[in-house]
Amino acid sequence: MKQRTRVYTHADCYDHQTGEGHPESPQRLALVLEALKASEFSALDWQAAPMGTRAQAELIHDADYYDAILEALPERGIVPLDGGDTVLSPGSWRAVMRCIGAACAAVDDVMLGEAANVFCATRPCGHHAEPDRAMGFCIFNQAAIAAAHASRAYELERVAVVDFDVHHGNGTQAAFAPLPGLFYASCHQSPLYPGTGLRSETGSRNNILNVPLPPGCDSPMFRDRIRMDLLPALRNWAPELIVISAGFDAHRDDPLAGLQLVDADFHWITRELMEVAADTAQGRVVSILEGGYSMAGLTGGVAAHVRALTS
Ligand SMILES: [Zn+2]
Repeated sequence: MKQRTRVYTHADCYDHQTGEGHPESPQRLALVLEALKASEFSALDWQAAPMGTRAQAELIHDADYYDAILEALPERGIVPLDGGDTVLSPGSWRAVMRCIGAACAAVDDVMLGEAANVFCATRPCGHHAEPDRAMGFCIFNQAAIAAAHASRAYELERVAVVDFDVHHGNGTQAAFAPLPGLFYASCHQSPLYPGTGLRSETGSRNNILNVPLPPGCDSPMFRDRIRMDLLPALRNWAPELIVISAGFDAHRDDPLAGLQLVDADFHWITRELMEVAADTAQGRVVSILEGGYSMAGLTGGVAAHVRALTS
């Protein structure tokens, strides 16, 4: 039987509370899951996200940082980590460890042929989290951890993280820049938070590719830049596994950014990445939910993305 697309999620991911009015809300996950319950997705293979481990977190994060997050967990209420936007609540630990556990299990699944590809419907997002620092709603960097897990556990020589969230994944870049075997390619609005992601940032091993997009960038310009720039570099690198940092805040409806993408663009880029994976990685793709703060843009984008993964 043809392998199916697997989806990891867990109710613990609702328990990372961010406070009234915060864009990275538990409601985001509820809407994503509702969208994926549509009849067109009835063949999805739903699995409960396992808890991650300290060893997995430490593939990317410093031991001191891991301990500091544990110690900072409140018994009640919400505490800020980076001056306000990134917070911890009592349930945050289980949520972030489910994110890590899902990401690593997803890698195992595609490496062992248990699934055609995998989507991790988990929160909070992770790509701004640096090895020793929480940032931009992110605590641990599950996409970077997934890539490091693949390279360690399966001795892959080339793993790529491709990040189409509208924000630059400074955390993934910071973790990968000095490392052999890991490639990070990001397209993102520039200028925009967090301010990194210039084209000149290429990593000490030339394993970083930044494709900055101007505010207002629409579908034709986006596809052109990806086709001319990101895809050739990715193909040239010949990844044995592609991890997608799948953010949907480049959608034209998103309140935190100014790009003009539509649902079909998320389908398109997903298919393009799958084509590279088919040629160089035996089709192995793991996708991890990052941002997306317009409810219509998030649900439409996720549906288009998962439709591509299942086709
Ligand atoms: Zn984002």
